[in-house]
Amino acid sequence: MTKKQHIKAGIITGIVVNYGLKWLVRNDLSVGLIYSIILGIIGEILPDILEPPTSRWHRKLWHSKKMIMYMALLVLVLLIIPLLKDSMKAGIVIVLISYLIHLILDSRTPAGLP
Ligand SMILES: [Zn+2]
Repeated sequence: MTKKQHIKAGIITGIVVNYGLKWLVRNDLSVGLIYSIILGIIGEILPDILEPPTSRWHRKLWHSKKMIMYMALLVLVLLIIPLLKDSMKAGIVIVLISYLIHLILDSRTPAGLP
């Protein structure tokens, strides 16, 4: 997928996850709209910053199926364990879910994920 497509997905993911947390989980578990968009974009472009798409074989650990599992687990742990402030927790969850969406989108391409 192109960087532009990932950025669009990040904007949508940031907004949807932020309002999802607010409405489905708890009213105070959210960040502002602009923050949710910025965090969504960060999570969505992060895998390609960690492993720049310089060749067809750029997808390694940070783009792997294992990473999908780790990210999903981290989201659950963050939501269950009361370690961080709600706004910080919401921000991290938005970044992690955007990262997950990046991997899911990349997995649908012909190259797939390792
Ligand atoms: Zn990628």
